[in-house]
Amino acid sequence: MLCFAVAGAPLSTPKPGGTVEGLKQAHKLGITAMEIEWVQSVPKDPKRMLEIRGTAESLKMTMTVHAPYYINLNSPDPVTLAASKKRILDALAMSEIAGVRSVCVHAAFRLSQEPDDVYGNVSKAVEDILRQKKKLFPNVNLGLETMGKQSQFGTIEEVLRISKEFDLYPVIDPAHMHALTNGGWNTAKEWHHMFDLYEKALGKRSLQNMHMHYCGIAYGPKGEKHHLPLKDSDANWKDFLKVLKARKIGGTVVVESPLLETDTILLQREFEKM
Ligand SMILES: [Zn+2]
Repeated sequence: MLCFAVAGAPLSTPKPGGTVEGLKQAHKLGITAMEIEWVQSVPKDPKRMLEIRGTAESLKMTMTVHAPYYINLNSPDPVTLAASKKRILDALAMSEIAGVRSVCVHAAFRLSQEPDDVYGNVSKAVEDILRQKKKLFPNVNLGLETMGKQSQFGTIEEVLRISKEFDLYPVIDPAHMHALTNGGWNTAKEWHHMFDLYEKALGKRSLQNMHMHYCGIAYGPKGEKHHLPLKDSDANWKDFLKVLKARKIGGTVVVESPLLETDTILLQREFEKM
């Protein structure tokens, strides 16, 4: 089964907002999944996590998390590296308590280093993080995201390779891939190729349990500038939905449009009509 997730509490959530109210509002709108945006910091209170879990379970909402942006697993500074690993571990551990299935992470900046060296550093850090898996996050996936800027680690080849190495699944963001290649990855043929690469790396069954992001995007020669509403962008989103349908993709597509619930509902309705 495929769910379309709103990226954070819907804009129409009654004040003061927050994850619990956001889940309730999303459910009211007919949305069945939500990504929780811990992009500034990870909450520390396990009681709050249990409240989120109870709400999501009673409403049958699927949840994913976006980990903080302040992460660089390729940092040469040991303090920054340790803090980066800690932020990821905190997000994974809190996600475990909250009943979240997968955590999206922007793994690293390239810092003008050779791709193989960056890969080695990220891989070593992921190995360190996964030492805590059994104890802290046995049921949560660490999902490294395909990134939209040339300065960032995370081509589709890189995230598939590292996911295969550690038995994880990545976060595939076709909008980032579109921006990174200055306009590529925007046709049915290219998305079939994308799912072929995924299937080849992680197996056919893995297509039933994906964590994806999608939205419109503004870009230039260096890649991503910012996200856009679907209808204000060049995203070929109707064909994207057709490919999701044709390939029987399962899991969660998080809709990272600035319009949040409006574009989530747009994609969900169009997909259901097909
Ligand atoms: Zn992201």
